[in-house]
Amino acid sequence: TIGFGFIGASDIAKHKMLAAIRNTPDCEVVSVYSSNLERGRAYAAETQIPHAASSLEDLLANPAVHAVYISTTNELHHAQTLAAAQAGKHVLCEKPLAMSQLEAQTMLDACREAGVVLATNHHLRNAHAHQAMRDLIANGAIGKPIAARVFHAVYLRESLQGWRLDKPEAGGGVVLDIVVHDVDTLRFVLQAEPTEVISLSQQFGMSAGSVEDGSMAVFRFDNGVIAQVHTAFTVPYAGNGFEVHGTDGSLIAKNVMHPAAQPEVLLRTANSEQRLELAANEVYSLGVARFIAAIQGTGKPAASGEDGLWSLASALACLESAHTGQKVAISV
Ligand code: NDP
Repeated sequence: TIGFGFIGASDIAKHKMLAAIRNTPDCEVVSVYSSNLERGRAYAAETQIPHAASSLEDLLANPAVHAVYISTTNELHHAQTLAAAQAGKHVLCEKPLAMSQLEAQTMLDACREAGVVLATNHHLRNAHAHQAMRDLIANGAIGKPIAARVFHAVYLRESLQGWRLDKPEAGGGVVLDIVVHDVDTLRFVLQAEPTEVISLSQQFGMSAGSVEDGSMAVFRFDNGVIAQVHTAFTVPYAGNGFEVHGTDGSLIAKNVMHPAAQPEVLLRTANSEQRLELAANEVYSLGVARFIAAIQGTGKPAASGEDGLWSLASALACLESAHTGQKVAISV
């Protein structure tokens, strides 16, 4: 059995990852660490996690913990990953991996040197819809891809209206929160790397200080594709979508940027419009299963540390572009 330690008594850990781990054979969550022991104990009791650790060291010293899932606020991921690697624990880390590329690179290096797996919890690439689009594009179904459009503006639910809106030091803002997922999904579907970005950001009354609550960005990829990405915390009714347009066809997907929704994917070519039959699938469980396979040496993580580094680098470049008004190069 692979024992997980939760680093961070978070919403996502409680509402998504706990079930994802419990649904995976031979996996269980054995301990949770919160910076507030009382809160940790209450969280453990509510979620039926057997142990609340009194410190990070306490959690990492537990021999029943083989892997950690880190879902604290973003500025903490770096130091917590380094500590976990040093303790010989495999790391499934939330996005964005860190606050800077240098920090993320240090995490990759530390995990490699310690011989532990580092995975990034980019869940959307586990969706059947994105996998189907990737395969169709790779097989030439739309000819040569020209452009992509990602619609990922949401309304941040009230229970999450905390650090994301007013804590730049915790990695708040829609770009580090959502653009990372969109870039990861574009990289996965297009099988190409982003090379540069230009963006504008917005503050429309929800976020405070220097934190943005809306962003529109255009990324260029190394296969020539330009991709438009709209993200927001403030838009209740837009719905979401992901489109790739090529020389011989278009893939037009709706409801594919939210894991629980029923996806709709349309392939339109000169002579036909084909609706793909796709069921919504459990994307977080698939991520856990791939992480476990990587630990056991039988596979690779769905999204690796390097994938997390790419999405972070792209989001940081997007932020820099919004601040400077200049196009910013992306390199890893
Ligand atoms: P939360 O705000 O729920 O949790 C973040 C931290 O805030 C926790 O570690 C906890 O600190 C503290 N906290 C949470 N609730 C309370 C409370 N009621 N009182 C006091 N402190 C509290 O964050 P999310 O779950 O929304 O996000 C956590 C991470 O996961 C982020 O990195 C985010 O980007 C990522 N995420 C990823 C998603 C994905 O699909 N891959 C989806 C959502 C989030 P402590 O642990 O010290 O108690």
